[in-house]
Amino acid sequence: QVTDCADLTGLSEDELEKRKSLGYEEETPVSDNRCDNCQLYLPPTEKRKCGGCQLFKGPVKAGAYCTYWAPRVN
Ligand code: SF4
Repeated sequence: QVTDCADLTGLSEDELEKRKSLGYEEETPVSDNRCDNCQLYLPPTEKRKCGGCQLFKGPVKAGAYCTYWAPRVN
């Protein structure tokens, strides 16, 4: 089973474009702002090995980032 959270095969052009337009980067350029401390992050689950984002489909890396990053409110 492929668990590479950078594998975007199977995503539609629209979804790839959306991800790009939000400025998704697999390695955050802002070390304090990462997907795994973003309010919109969907943590991995038993069924889904990679994280996700509420803004687009497909896998999201914990240490990634996009321009819509927002602090998680605990
Ligand atoms: Fe990551 Fe951006 Fe989604 Fe936040 S909004 S989880 S920073 S991709």
